[in-house]
Amino acid sequence: MKKIVVVGGGISGLAVAYAVIDGAREASQEIDLTLIESQNRLGGKIQTERIDGFLCEAGPNGFLDNKPETLELCSKLNLDNILLRSNESAAKRFIYSKGVLHQLPASPLGFIGFRLLSLRGKLRILGEPFTKPISYTVDETIADFGRRHLGTEADKKLIDPMKRKRRGKREDQWAREAS
Ligand SMILES: Cc1cc2nc3c(=O)[nH]c(=O)nc-3n(C[C@H](O)[C@H](O)[C@H](O)COP(=O)(O)OP(=O)(O)OC[C@H]3O[C@@H](n4cnc5c(N)ncnc54)[C@H](O)[C@@H]3O)c2cc1C
Repeated sequence: MKKIVVVGGGISGLAVAYAVIDGAREASQEIDLTLIESQNRLGGKIQTERIDGFLCEAGPNGFLDNKPETLELCSKLNLDNILLRSNESAAKRFIYSKGVLHQLPASPLGFIGFRLLSLRGKLRILGEPFTKPISYTVDETIADFGRRHLGTEADKKLIDPMKRKRRGKREDQWAREAS
């Protein structure tokens, strides 16, 4: 019997483990598979929480369906009937800051009138094409990536609100999708 060890119980490890088990079953082959996870929960970056009645995703909240494999996996796991297609209105995104909801601009014209960022912050974003690449071996955080590409202000005001930021049980700044 083949012994197989998968390290990490995030979506990658779980998908690999599933593929191995599925392949072995199809080939009528017996395997001894062990999944090793250092945390006391599976899912890795994927983490769903209910906070004050809201369904909050601390990590990913969707996937692109242009590659058939993801949908095929969902289908094999009998998840098709609970998949939610993204709502048209979800294209409108807002950031709540200092008592004001700012709609994220969807066009260059909207970007000019976007009041959450200063003129300096906007000009810094326009400099993004000139960002110098770094070695792919550097394990860069999302914040470092945001600062390097878009500047400190955009990182703080646009990227940071999209990341999980819990103070007690409340989110004081939360990127909301228009419902
Ligand atoms: C805020 C946020 C939003 C995102 N939104 C999206 C989205 O909308 N759509 C999308 O497609 N992607 C999104 N992503 C990216 C996506 O979440 C990740 O690419 C994906 O979840 C990574 O999965 P993974 O299994 O490769 O890694 P992880 O989820 O990091 O899993 C790795 C697992 O391995 C375990 N591990 C690590 N080292 C060891 C060890 N030595 N021994 C045992 N266990 C170990 C860890 O504890 C962890 O459970 C988002 C990511 C973040 C952070």
